Amino acid sequence: MAYEYNVTQKRYHTLDYYLKTKYHKKVFKVPLNASFSCPNRDGSKGVGGCTFCSAMGSGDFAGNPQHALKQQFDEVMQIMHQKWNDAYYIVYFQAFSNTYAPIDVLKRTFEPFIHQNDVVGMSIATRPDCINEENVAYLKELSQYFEEFWVELGLQSAYDKTALLIHRGYFYEEFVKAVHLLNDAGIRIVVHIIDGLPHETEQMMIQTIKKLNQLPIFGIKIHMLNVIENTPIAKDYLNHKFYLLSETEFVNIVVNQLQYLKGSVIVHRIGGDSDPKHLIAPQWALKKMNVVNQIDKKMEELDAFQGEKFK
Ligand code: SF4
Repeated sequence: MAYEYNVTQKRYHTLDYYLKTKYHKKVFKVPLNASFSCPNRDGSKGVGGCTFCSAMGSGDFAGNPQHALKQQFDEVMQIMHQKWNDAYYIVYFQAFSNTYAPIDVLKRTFEPFIHQNDVVGMSIATRPDCINEENVAYLKELSQYFEEFWVELGLQSAYDKTALLIHRGYFYEEFVKAVHLLNDAGIRIVVHIIDGLPHETEQMMIQTIKKLNQLPIFGIKIHMLNVIENTPIAKDYLNHKFYLLSETEFVNIVVNQLQYLKGSVIVHRIGGDSDPKHLIAPQWALKKMNVVNQIDKKMEELDAFQGEKFK
């Protein structure tokens, strides 16, 4: 069976495929920390954040927040260039909730990257409850300056009972509302989900994919739950309150999820990055490439493709 979105051996629709076929050279994301906060940490929605969130607001590999954004950009870019010589860039506002500020602050943060050499895109990570009509109108204006303009929304799971358990601070309905607001403004949406959240079954993780298939989303990131030290979830894990997926279980679940995932949805990432100094478990998640290779191998063994179970 020929796979539509493939120039390599991949059996799912990768971001690499999308970018390479469009730009014909490497495009990498430059993660920055704009020192925003998060309503789930500063008390306006909650304190302590999502139970899995690291002190860096899930932006452990973003630039150094002590440095100005342009300096962060140059520093991260230099590191990336050790791996790829010739590339275009997507400025990635990764840490915390990057639309959680008044419009004038957003302007000061984002606009210095307009017309910057070789920057083809901007990607802004935020929470659905930090999306509203006013900031979407601004983002729509801003999006005109970039070839790629994405807003990354954390969902983690479509189940409200899981949202409560991980102290996410918003429910599925609010996520859906943000997706439609952004989509109506012509802004592309990348959704983050986490596999292996406490008490979630494989069927629930598949159901999250099925629900996403009904929404106008551009991309997805499928993370494995990483237990980071000094987080509430670490305490529960160490007290054996829930079970963490093994590598084989994660691989099998992801393959199944990909089979259900609509073929047009671009897979931006599988796995996830954690600072090894602070990761309690699972240690196998640190060997990212190994996990991805196993997914490829499993898909080949099963002759599986993204979207083949999508109806
Ligand atoms: S929304 Fe993001 S930054 Fe805020 S607590 Fe949750 S994971 Fe952390």
